[in-house]
Amino acid sequence: MNDDLKNVDVAVVGGGIVGCAVALAARRCGLGVAVLERGRICGEASSAAGGLICAQYDADHDTPLFRLRLDGRDAFPEFAQLLEELTGLNVGFSRGPTMGLARTDEQRQQLRNHVAWQREAALDVEFLEPDEARRREPLLPPDITGAAVYPDGQVDTQRWPPIVHRALLAAGIHVHQGTDVTAVRTGPNPTVQTVQGDLHADQVVLATGAWLPDLLPGVPVVPSKGHMLAFDAPHLRLRHVLHVPGGSLAQRSDGRVVFGATKERVGFDRRLRAGAVQQMLNGALATLPALADCPLASIWTGFRPEPTDGLPLIGRDPRSGLYLATGHHTHGITMSWHTGQIVARLLTGQDPAYPIHPFSPQRLTAV
Ligand SMILES: Cc1cc2nc3c(=O)[nH]c(=O)nc-3n(C[C@H](O)[C@H](O)[C@H](O)COP(=O)(O)OP(=O)(O)OC[C@H]3O[C@@H](n4cnc5c(N)ncnc54)[C@H](O)[C@@H]3O)c2cc1C
Repeated sequence: MNDDLKNVDVAVVGGGIVGCAVALAARRCGLGVAVLERGRICGEASSAAGGLICAQYDADHDTPLFRLRLDGRDAFPEFAQLLEELTGLNVGFSRGPTMGLARTDEQRQQLRNHVAWQREAALDVEFLEPDEARRREPLLPPDITGAAVYPDGQVDTQRWPPIVHRALLAAGIHVHQGTDVTAVRTGPNPTVQTVQGDLHADQVVLATGAWLPDLLPGVPVVPSKGHMLAFDAPHLRLRHVLHVPGGSLAQRSDGRVVFGATKERVGFDRRLRAGAVQQMLNGALATLPALADCPLASIWTGFRPEPTDGLPLIGRDPRSGLYLATGHHTHGITMSWHTGQIVARLLTGQDPAYPIHPFSPQRLTAV
């Protein structure tokens, strides 16, 4: 065995933000934890993301997943604070209203209906007439027909890899980057096999995002590719994250404006696709025409872990005995800390203190 691969209470395979949240929450419960990541910490979907900490914009019914997103959004500020306390660094999180825009009469009616059901569900949301929306957000395009405002936030995920890595180390977690896990032997004494050697852990959590089926064949998770764009726009001052059909636009504290993302089922093809870039450019410029004169700073892609039945996998898989924490698809940043806390409670034998049945891997036994 490689000396670096010390045996631990919990081995977390996959160092995306969900695996890191599980590791930090488990460590806070007093467990000895290792994270095994084949690339670098938060180097995949978790730094490709738009970083919107939001739950309400695209929801039209009250479902368990909607509640998980809401609770995830509400739990996230504590995570940002924890990362900042552990590292002394600014993680780029800010709370602030996000705005959903309607550009046609039909979209206005849909937005009104959406706001009406959310208000009936006692959620914090407001419908704005175009003049009031433009008063609050002077950069809005001239043709909007209405807007809805939600109490959300955003985080600059592109800053995350070194910050989250540092937070794990500061918390006393063993971090193995560049460590490809090739298999997990299950049973009473689970063993994580890597190219560098084996690691024994009392409990193993698979948080390998879109790559989960590599270690657990047959699990219904597929990659959902997203294209994102960033513009250098320090002279613009956007007060809200803007949601439009087909994408969201957010400005970071350093002036960059990011727009994304597409949703494509094309496997793990990282290449930029011309039509997708065009679609993102059109969406961004139609939402904020002033971007047309700004330098395009970067374009990138990432792979969301999309569960084909629409629900994340959180909890113990009764077939393998492994814990799963993945499948958060479009809202994995938002739900990361809440998921980490739930899984940590399960790992320490506590009640999850959350109705996780809809997300339980128990449902895989029927697959
Ligand atoms: C373009 C885009 C925009 C998005 N925007 C938002 C947003 O605005 N808000 C939001 O909440 N969510 C957003 N998401 C979704 C969010 O990014 C994901 O749901 C979340 O990052 C998933 O985290 P994860 O830790 O499960 O997966 P990942 O971050 O992909 O991490 C999985 C890790 O496991 C590692 N791994 C895999 N197999 C192995 C192995 N065998 N051995 C060792 N390591 C392994 C990988 O290298 C990877 O680092 C977006 C995603 C994309 C792609």
